[in-house]
Amino acid sequence: MSNIEQTLSIIKPDAVERNLENDIKEIFKNKGFSILNEKKIQIEKTEAEKFYKVHETKPFYNDLCEYLSSGPIVVMILEKENAVLGNRELMGATNPQDALEGTIRKKYGISIDKNSVHGSDSVENAKIEIDFFFKD
Ligand code: UDP
Ligand code: MG
Repeated sequence: MSNIEQTLSIIKPDAVERNLENDIKEIFKNKGFSILNEKKIQIEKTEAEKFYKVHETKPFYNDLCEYLSSGPIVVMILEKENAVLGNRELMGATNPQDALEGTIRKKYGISIDKNSVHGSDSVENAKIEIDFFFKD
């Protein structure tokens, strides 16, 4: 049975700054993801705080929100069979040092904080995150 899903992907400031936007989009397309919608934006720190609210008690929360709002990002709705897990696999581990060969974070990630991409971690969160950036 087919299980087409949508997930939210973000190309983070470190990757946009290095002009990796098109390279990363090509990787997604070559892996069979369709980019249903996309926009390049810069968000306020307060918006980043809302987006990453699940991490509000973590020691890295403040720096993370500063960082996500520090420069332009590209937010995209990706669609594919089993897109949520497929995107997580293609992104690789949170820490690029632990990411497998062939993953985006292995190829482009600089450090655990500057790891080039975000991807929703569940179907439920994908819906919430897509709404966060693309509702109205
Ligand atoms: N992060 C960090 N330090 C840590 C753990 C996470 O700076 O020790 C950042 C990192 O950029 C990561 C984001 O916080 O992508 C969200 O963390 P999460 O555990 O959700 O990782 P992800 O889902 O992005 O792999
Ligand atoms: Mg996460």
